[in-house]
Amino acid sequence: MREYLKFYIDGEWVDPAVPAQVDVINPATEAVAGVISMGSARDADRAVMAARKAFAGYSQTSRADRIELLQNILGKYQERFAEIAAAITEEMGAPGWLAMQAQAAIGVGHLMTGIEVLKNYKFEELRGSTLIAHEPIGVCAFITPWNWPINQIACKVVPAIATGCTMVLKPSEIAPFSAILWAEVMHAAGVPAGVFNLVNGDGPTVGAALSSHPEVDMVSFTGSTRAGIEVAKNAAPTVKRVHQELGGKSPNIVLDDADLEVAVAGGVKSVMTNSGQSCNAPTRMLVPAAKMEAAKAIAKAAAEATTVGSPDGNAAMGPVVSETQWTKIQGLIQKGIDEGATLVTGGTGRPEGLDKGYYVKPTIFADVSNDMTIAREEIFGPVLAMLPYQSEEQAVAIANDTVYGLAAYIQGDAEHARKVARTLRAGQVAINYAAPDMMAPFGGYKQSGNGREWGDHAFTDFLETKAILGWGAAEAAE
Ligand code: NAD
Repeated sequence: MREYLKFYIDGEWVDPAVPAQVDVINPATEAVAGVISMGSARDADRAVMAARKAFAGYSQTSRADRIELLQNILGKYQERFAEIAAAITEEMGAPGWLAMQAQAAIGVGHLMTGIEVLKNYKFEELRGSTLIAHEPIGVCAFITPWNWPINQIACKVVPAIATGCTMVLKPSEIAPFSAILWAEVMHAAGVPAGVFNLVNGDGPTVGAALSSHPEVDMVSFTGSTRAGIEVAKNAAPTVKRVHQELGGKSPNIVLDDADLEVAVAGGVKSVMTNSGQSCNAPTRMLVPAAKMEAAKAIAKAAAEATTVGSPDGNAAMGPVVSETQWTKIQGLIQKGIDEGATLVTGGTGRPEGLDKGYYVKPTIFADVSNDMTIAREEIFGPVLAMLPYQSEEQAVAIANDTVYGLAAYIQGDAEHARKVARTLRAGQVAINYAAPDMMAPFGGYKQSGNGREWGDHAFTDFLETKAILGWGAAEAAE
């Protein structure tokens, strides 16, 4: 049983202004796994003021100092790696193997990438006699979700540390354990007091206080489109920069020349990973109408081969994160049935033999049309919708017919896929299930968000641009 009742502010673990606690539930057992304090606007304010105070000094540190600091963080993170992976499993249910190989490993990836980018990043350039300087934006607020908890913390904190910003993190109240360990890592690595602060709490209280705080210069939010809109509204009166990584309903176009078995089975596997709780999951599979029957059979076999079970074992899929999510997913599966999609496999209810824990059956719908709820709404569960198309032109139109634009996937001949890739309105397009690229910008078109994270693009949102006219002339005059 974990007890994390303090917040990390100004380099110390401190009590909340007003005592309030909430239980954290282990989704695999439905048992209480720990308790955290829930903060208030007063805690948020205290953390922001600590970050403001630290900014004056930290923003002036050298590139070499910040590289050394990131290397220290990486070292301390690696020391706590197995513990962090275990915390992720406990808070959000990722199978142990996934927590180690992906959920926790990606923290190492962001730290290593950040260090490499920082070594060569161009913070200044002289254009004629004008100096263009990219300076740290100031105090940043980070609001993060539960589905890839360390990924979303690391992909914000690392570029902020690298660019000389100070910050306050409010992690998800549903999955706060790994965030506490992250704060312990920052402390052990010698991050100066006030540079990194953590306050736990819910969105409408701490999240809103951070988004509206006049001393916060930039807010970076990852989560639902609904909450992302609230953050932007709260940030508007103080004209702060708002970075949003929101939802998705990503298309996966299986071209006529694709290897159907590889394309369909790969798509099923990708959707089921992390119990479907990835914002960029390829949840709408577009299949040539003539191949729908064959594709259904492949998808059925792949989904039925997906083992579901305790995160402690070797199962491919663990539970979903919470009872709320489980109930929401059940409702959407039922909606798919009611609206006339063909249920190929899975469906409502718990998988056989799993009576405790928020487990969902790997579910495939076929003959889905793009106006059905299961093709439009983000389900955030292990549910794939297969849509038939008659022509490639129609496939592209269906792919783009969504309010989202986070990711898209194409299966088939590489040259053919490259042509189609240019027609898709999405921030990241993967051809033939290309492996993730830590240097590739990640972020959405349309209502999937604003700005980009990962790699060198991540630095941009943490920097202000200052033009100093006459700089070159002054130098020449010396
Ligand atoms: P959520 O929006 O409910 O919560 C995310 C965070 O926002 C939490 O820390 C929460 O406390 C906070 N929050 C909630 N309401 C708020 C408010 N009014 N003001 C400020 N903060 C508020 O989302 P979730 O359920 O934790 O995560 C799932 C969602 O996140 C999905 O929609 C998913 O697609 C999206 N997501 C997007 C990305 C991406 O990179 N685009 C990555 C992961 C998750």
